Amino acid sequence: MQRKRSGLGLFGFYAAVTLVPIVVLGLLLTRSLRSDLEHGGVAAAGTIADSIARSAIGPTLSGDTLADGPTAAERVALRNAMMPLLTNGDALQLRLRDRVGHIVFDPLVPNQRPTGPTDGEVVEALSGHPVRLLTRINADEADRAKALGARAIEVYTPVFAGSGNGNALGALEIYVPYAPIAASTESSYRHMTILLTIGLLVLWSVLATISWSVTQRLRRSAASNRRLARVDALTGLANRTALAEALSHSLASAHDRSVSVVVMDIDGFTQINEVLGHENGDRFLRHIAEQLTAVVEPTDLVARVGGDEFSVLMNGTDRRGADLRLEKIRWALLNEVELGGVALAAEIAVGRVDGRSGDDPAELLRQAGVACRAAKHAKVPLLSYDSALEGFDADRLSLVAELRHSIDSEHLVLHYQPKIATSDGHVVGVEALLRWQHPTRGLLLPGAFLPAVESTELILPLTDWVVDAGCRQAISWLEAGRPLAIAVNISARCLRDPMFPDRVLGALVRHRLPVNLLSIEITETAVISDPDRAASTLRRLSERGIKISVDDFGVGYTSLGHLHQLPIHELKIDQQFVTPLISAPDGRAVVRALVSLGHELGMTVVAEGVEDDATLAAIAAIGCDIAQGYGIARPAPAEVLDQWLIERRSAVPIPTPVNSLA
Ligand code: C2E
Ligand code: CA
Ligand code: CA
Repeated sequence: MQRKRSGLGLFGFYAAVTLVPIVVLGLLLTRSLRSDLEHGGVAAAGTIADSIARSAIGPTLSGDTLADGPTAAERVALRNAMMPLLTNGDALQLRLRDRVGHIVFDPLVPNQRPTGPTDGEVVEALSGHPVRLLTRINADEADRAKALGARAIEVYTPVFAGSGNGNALGALEIYVPYAPIAASTESSYRHMTILLTIGLLVLWSVLATISWSVTQRLRRSAASNRRLARVDALTGLANRTALAEALSHSLASAHDRSVSVVVMDIDGFTQINEVLGHENGDRFLRHIAEQLTAVVEPTDLVARVGGDEFSVLMNGTDRRGADLRLEKIRWALLNEVELGGVALAAEIAVGRVDGRSGDDPAELLRQAGVACRAAKHAKVPLLSYDSALEGFDADRLSLVAELRHSIDSEHLVLHYQPKIATSDGHVVGVEALLRWQHPTRGLLLPGAFLPAVESTELILPLTDWVVDAGCRQAISWLEAGRPLAIAVNISARCLRDPMFPDRVLGALVRHRLPVNLLSIEITETAVISDPDRAASTLRRLSERGIKISVDDFGVGYTSLGHLHQLPIHELKIDQQFVTPLISAPDGRAVVRALVSLGHELGMTVVAEGVEDDATLAAIAAIGCDIAQGYGIARPAPAEVLDQWLIERRSAVPIPTPVNSLA
């Protein structure tokens, strides 16, 4: 309705604007028409006067000059010629003048001698410029005494003697009545004005019709432009603009629900374009658009946001629901399409971000794009946005991509670092620490690749590998008669995976490893990020007899309340408190407090980062139960550790195997 009115308004504006020049044109034309008609009347009077002078007056004269007036005979003839003209109204006044303008004959006073002043108009007429004036009777200087009479056309026309050869004798002054000419002029004027008005009205209505149809067409094309500005021409999907609009709308009405935005990048699209041609590339994109459209929920919006980038805005769902929808999308994209004789399915890297009411839509789209590019680079199927991905280190992410293929290969190894009892120095177990023997970069420590892996799902199979390799080593030590308890490090993401405990327990069963020979180390922050889920995972592991240590204790923010509720057996005091113990003895109070806290809670306390004997003695004096650090042994491959154990000849108490899994 609003649009209709604005269309009408536009039309009204055009109609008014075109009317103005039409009216002006009409006024100008009628004015010029009137003046033309008047000129025409005056000219006609002149023609009449010329013909009277030539055919009626000239033949009555014979002399060379009129300076002395016509002869008597000429006067009679002149009177006879002029009177009928006066009586039948063809002329209102007639006078013959000599070459300088004196009146030499007036039929109303036929015998008068030449009289009156000279007259410039006569001289002008005789010099070849006909004088024709719209005036009134008695307006002439010669008639100044008389009252003005009817409107008339005053004409001065040269008079020649006889047949008209030779010099003009003088001029005939004739007043042709204007009334009949005016009547005919007026009638023609009226007639022409009516025709002109009709013509201009027709012209205006044609212009108005044209402007109406142009307005309509403009309106339609504006509407279609508005639509096209939001549609991707190739696939018919929404484009980035439309997606951003829909997203801000979704966020505005999200209230306390979240809105998921995923951005997907097609793997290898450039090659498809290059190898199969752009036409097939386009067909592939259309195929993907169809698959996506078919599988999403009616409330979702699919958009193409870049060359080979698609996006789905998922409304009205939580994180789990969004995961399920993504899974459906992934399945749908496995449908192959035949392009240039090759059957192709789309493989995608997905970046995703969850937004809430109040978030900036443009920022969310950017973040989903960042996550998508990082996923593509890391060659993982899905990455959720995390600020750690900002300005992601491409080098690290390509390591992640490589690591995918290194799991299960001989390139991943575990090194082991012993933990000893401070009381008597016997080895109570080892911590397994991951190493990557990279084919070109050499031995990589976890710090070089783990942080990048931890933001991807890849951390799950990697941890599974560590657990499996650790169990294998533990069982081989056990079978060699040297049982050593192994601690493995577990990332936060594993604690959120409900299947994780089953996989750990599965590894124990597979390797027939007594449960008391495996423990797990988790950091404080891993617990904090999702305390409920972490607690449930830890409880399931603990219930089956697996011991749990809190790693890097003291640097995080674990609330003591949490610690108390969790099934924790061991606290590992972070090395930043332990290493400087000798050089900065002030720290001793902190370590002492942490040790007594652990003991109060019934836990074993480990000091990490013991780099020398003095530190070992100091922590033993404080009452810390176990020590670990370079001062005792550096992390090393199992064979090296075996050698170390032999050299140390330490008395390793054999833990009693407990098979609680049976
Ligand atoms: P962390 O669990 O605190 O492991 C101890 C780290 O301290 C190890 O570094 C070890 O080599 C180092 N270290 C041991 N004694 C000393 C010492 O006396 N002085 C100093 N300055 N450092 C000492 P590494 O092997 O580079 O591992 C770093 C971190 O990577 C580990 O810290 C752990 O959080 C993580 N990590 C290692 N392996 C794995 C794994 O298999 N899975 C997971 N999720 N994380 C792992
Ligand atoms: Ca650890
Ligand atoms: Ca630690």
